Amino acid sequence: MASERTLAIVKPDAVARGLTGTLLARIESEGLRIVALRMVRLSPREVEGFYAVHRDKPFFSPLVAFMTSGPSVLAVLEGEDAIRRWRACMGATDPMEADEGTIRRTYAESKQRNAVHGSDGPSSAAFEIGWFFRGLDLA
Ligand code: ATP
Ligand code: MG
Repeated sequence: MASERTLAIVKPDAVARGLTGTLLARIESEGLRIVALRMVRLSPREVEGFYAVHRDKPFFSPLVAFMTSGPSVLAVLEGEDAIRRWRACMGATDPMEADEGTIRRTYAESKQRNAVHGSDGPSSAAFEIGWFFRGLDLA
């Protein structure tokens, strides 16, 4: 399996609760390398474009409100099989369905306020990294 890159977000619920350091340490303890990092309060336009695949879902508008409610931490992670490994570490979208020991099982407040994001495949990873890091340096 070749090295690959994925986009991770520490979402506003987790940043507001002071979990940024804990979650970045968790990423590194999983053996994933952080190759780019930004802390930013996302605009509605940025979130709408980022989550465009969900624009027709009933949860879209509240999702945009949540993701713009405070700062997020955006990171590009690199490693062997990084996309699948980061998704496994995060756990299922709904913390009630997430496996014991996963980030969402441990820290998520609800299906919406679920602490972290991870790209779900190679094409979404390429799109998402470009969306937030185009033209910026990756280590
Ligand atoms: P993410 O893309 O953020 O990593 P995911 O891939 O596990 O999450 P998606 O189906 O892509 O899940 O949904 C994107 C985000 O929208 C979720 O992480 C969550 O914050 C929110 N969301 C998804 N489904 C619901 C729902 N039924 N009710 C409320 N919020 C939801
Ligand atoms: Mg998703």
